[in-house]
Amino acid sequence: MSAPDMQHSITPKPRDSVEQDQFLTILSREEALARFEAALFPRPMQGEMRPLAGALGHALAEDVIAPIDVPPFDRSNVDGFAVRASDLAQAGETTPVRLSLNNEIIACGIAPALPVAPGTATPIATGGPVPRGADAIVMIEHTQPAGNAAVEIHRAASPGQFISFAGSDIARGEALLRAGSMIGSREIGMLAACGIADVPVVRRPRVAVISTGDELVQPGSPLRPAAIYDTNGAIVAAAINENGGEAMFFGAIPDDEQELEVAMRDALQGCDMLVVSGGTSKGAGDVSHRIIARLGEPGIVAHGIALKPGKPLCLAVCDGKPVVILPGFPTSAMFTLHDMIVPVLRRMAGLPPRTDATVSARIPVRIASELGRTEFVMVSLVEGDDVLIAYPSGKGSGAITSFAQADGFLRIDALADQMPAGMQAEVTLFTPHVRTPDLVIIGSHCTGLDLVTAPLARAGLSVRSISVGSLGGLAAARRGECDLAPIHLFDEASERWNEPFMLAGLELVPGYRRMQGVVFRAGDRRFEGLSAEHAVRAALADPECIMVNRNQGAGTRILIDRLLGTARPEGYWNQPRSHNAVAAAVAQHRADWGVAIAPVADAAGLGFIPLAEEHYDFAVVAARKERPAVQAFLESLTSTETRAALQRAGFRPV
Ligand code: AMP
Ligand code: MG
Repeated sequence: MSAPDMQHSITPKPRDSVEQDQFLTILSREEALARFEAALFPRPMQGEMRPLAGALGHALAEDVIAPIDVPPFDRSNVDGFAVRASDLAQAGETTPVRLSLNNEIIACGIAPALPVAPGTATPIATGGPVPRGADAIVMIEHTQPAGNAAVEIHRAASPGQFISFAGSDIARGEALLRAGSMIGSREIGMLAACGIADVPVVRRPRVAVISTGDELVQPGSPLRPAAIYDTNGAIVAAAINENGGEAMFFGAIPDDEQELEVAMRDALQGCDMLVVSGGTSKGAGDVSHRIIARLGEPGIVAHGIALKPGKPLCLAVCDGKPVVILPGFPTSAMFTLHDMIVPVLRRMAGLPPRTDATVSARIPVRIASELGRTEFVMVSLVEGDDVLIAYPSGKGSGAITSFAQADGFLRIDALADQMPAGMQAEVTLFTPHVRTPDLVIIGSHCTGLDLVTAPLARAGLSVRSISVGSLGGLAAARRGECDLAPIHLFDEASERWNEPFMLAGLELVPGYRRMQGVVFRAGDRRFEGLSAEHAVRAALADPECIMVNRNQGAGTRILIDRLLGTARPEGYWNQPRSHNAVAAAVAQHRADWGVAIAPVADAAGLGFIPLAEEHYDFAVVAARKERPAVQAFLESLTSTETRAALQRAGFRPV
């Protein structure tokens, strides 16, 4: 490395500018939003005319006054005869009144030529204009033809019957729609009924979206080692389009101050707002917030906000345009976008604030929270005995799947350090309605489970599977929060699987076996062809060899401890919580061996030395066993189709 290069990489800004520029003053969520809004509003709204079909989702820029009456004339609502009600005062089932027919038929779109004189009627279709003289319509069902030119009427009629009067729907001159209304299909219908082809709308704010990070690759391109796919670019753009903006994606820019500045200036020039994600925390490559200071007045209004997730959020206004840097972690980016940016965007788009549906639900487990930060926790809703239960989806701010599996989120106040178990809390829903799943599975997760539930999904039953480990699953089952808990627990005293852990009210249903074994990279001569004991002995004898362990409490850990005895080789303290993590560590050369189940080893293309079979069974809540979805699950478990699928995937059904 040349001297100037070295200088560049080891000499950041003076120490206090690194820390103090950034998070010297942490603002509360409310204060930050208030400052941001004060710097942006009031501002003139930009209007434009759009053709009716292109106005969907926009806010109306001006009141629209109805230019015509709707309907434009008195209109028949049924097929029948236009009559004078006074002619039919005596009409009844046994005393029909005979009227002579006028010589015209009024279809839709035909203007009547002849008046309805006393004692006469004119045939009229639904939608036809009521002729002069007539004041009621008689339905064809209450009449009988009487020769060529007459009709018998079997009912009396009241004046106005089956007529929609001109302007009764929309009256000319009335305010049809108010400025600020969001244009949906119903509003488009009203405008069309009045013949309005061009609509004055608020122009959608054009929002430039930029991702930053050397590690980012766009979906569709292959992943390099150590790279990840750019998730934020896609979700931020989608959320902006969902909330009245028009997203323009500028791609992912490397963590290079100059390159990023060029991109940010370029993006800001053609847009009304700029949303960058990443590069806002204290990391070495985090430069985006430094650029903002040079983009325009007044610059940064808040950097460091008491939100969790979302503390590094940076809010700025540059020459009247909002410029925002979202934290890089996708879930943090999403929460801060929805909580802090969407309200501003909607206001710029002229749209009313979002109204999110909420429900009250019970918290089954204590949720710890950091004092002093407003905390958002995503939850999955399940139906308990007669209350909704909100399970926190505890994957951390880096996990993107928590969004897809969650039904909504709850907010823990900055002043609270926890939400206690058993509390009723308000859950803000991601969708307008709660839809609780037909089958709830809480416990240890396994890819084989997807094969068992596949037929249920095909039959239209929704399944939610929440991974909390075997013991967590048993606790949830005991509290009646799920239908069944998948478990794989070995009791060392009795040397039996699962059965010794059953509690009252639970029934053990046998599932399948999973072969566990030593995994290594295929071709590694230290392991290839050896028995498990020999392989581990060889690994322990090689000081260069690194293992990957499993977490305490995992069934697999018991096996590993037995293999190791008192040995504590390098890598022992690396204790991930899943088979997949063990396989990834070995496949990516972070470790040389570990213990995982065969299907996972297969999928990762690793070598495998069988050790022992693990019993993966189901603790079914007895009181829920008769539910159709539970029955469907149990049927699938024993079906030939599912057993074959399990076998193909490397499991052994029992
Ligand atoms: P940063 O805010 O740049 O320090 O990023 C924090 C974390 O979020 C890092 O793990 C980044 O790799 C990740 N991250 C940043 N931007 C994105 C993105 N656009 N898509 C997915 N992950 C990202
Ligand atoms: Mg970054």
